Amino acid sequence: MYMRYALLKSPYKVLIKHEKVPSPAENQIRIKGAFCGICGTDRIMAKNGVKRWTRFGHEVSGTIDEVGRNVEGFKLGQKVSIKPGAPCGSCSFCAGGLLRKCSNIVVAEGGFSEYLVVDPRSVAVAGEEADLKSLSLAEPLNVAIDVLQTAQVRKGDSIILFGPGLIGLLALYISKSRGAKPLALVGRNFYKHVEVHQRSLDVHFVKYNPDTTFFKSQKNLALAAYLQDIPSARTVSRLVVIHTAPPRFIAGYASFLPYETTIVNIGLASEPKLVKMRLDMRELMYRRISLLSSFAVPSLFFGEAIEYLSNGLINSEFFIDKVVNLEQLQEEIRPLKSGRKNLKVVVALDGARKI
Ligand SMILES: [Zn+2]
Ligand SMILES: [Zn+2]
Repeated sequence: MYMRYALLKSPYKVLIKHEKVPSPAENQIRIKGAFCGICGTDRIMAKNGVKRWTRFGHEVSGTIDEVGRNVEGFKLGQKVSIKPGAPCGSCSFCAGGLLRKCSNIVVAEGGFSEYLVVDPRSVAVAGEEADLKSLSLAEPLNVAIDVLQTAQVRKGDSIILFGPGLIGLLALYISKSRGAKPLALVGRNFYKHVEVHQRSLDVHFVKYNPDTTFFKSQKNLALAAYLQDIPSARTVSRLVVIHTAPPRFIAGYASFLPYETTIVNIGLASEPKLVKMRLDMRELMYRRISLLSSFAVPSLFFGEAIEYLSNGLINSEFFIDKVVNLEQLQEEIRPLKSGRKNLKVVVALDGARKI
């Protein structure tokens, strides 16, 4: 039996190859891939991150296809999501309950593949009723939950999302279910898919201009005015800004935020000038503004993520707006001049074939 899998090389080159379906070792599990989401970090990697042909893809769902002889507690046919970085469970940090500090993270990569052999610790099992397409959202959901956990978002908080992509929107829906109040989406373009969520969440949309001089350019005055007039600035609630855009823009708006705002960054960019920033710490200090970093490695919230996907709080039909096949991956990974018109593209993995 042969399978197809994808290799990536910068800039933006994808190769589909064939090889024999691998057999799991006695302490491994083989997964028959169902769906693998294309992530923003895949696109950043594709731009200038990989010099040699590399397997990629880390938002995988599938079913258990073969279980190694020494593996216990898993059954053939179980629906699963794969954790790209699982805590090892046995290092001194894991043993002490400090899973975030795990010094021996179990990595599972190469999700754009019809079959995948993984360590059992990478496997998060879902119920029979779970939908395989939805389960490919478990990884981005895990990231969104990590953002909320990092900022300790709670009932009564007000939230602004800077950069209305998948992760931030997922975080807003979850935070709303926890009693927080989303106020606004701040984005470069008011795409149709952004409008859908703006209406559904009943929040404002505020446009920003990605000029690197930001507020000095006079192009972002509407955003400055909005931030200075946020309802929460006049109430007792805490404001949390979830930042998923290039980090550089934080320096542009930090001085307009209300007292005791918490900013939590999960934004990245491939250009150094969009990642580095100059920040006058007095602007943060005198108004007690916190700047936090979220980074969901190792993956700690897959259980919760699968629960949200199973109980209907997160309906994948509302987020996954394009499904392509492995051959279309090359085209999908490329940047578009006009910006991305889809919120989430997933690749359907077809399963093995005889060639
Ligand atoms: Zn991802
Ligand atoms: Zn560990």
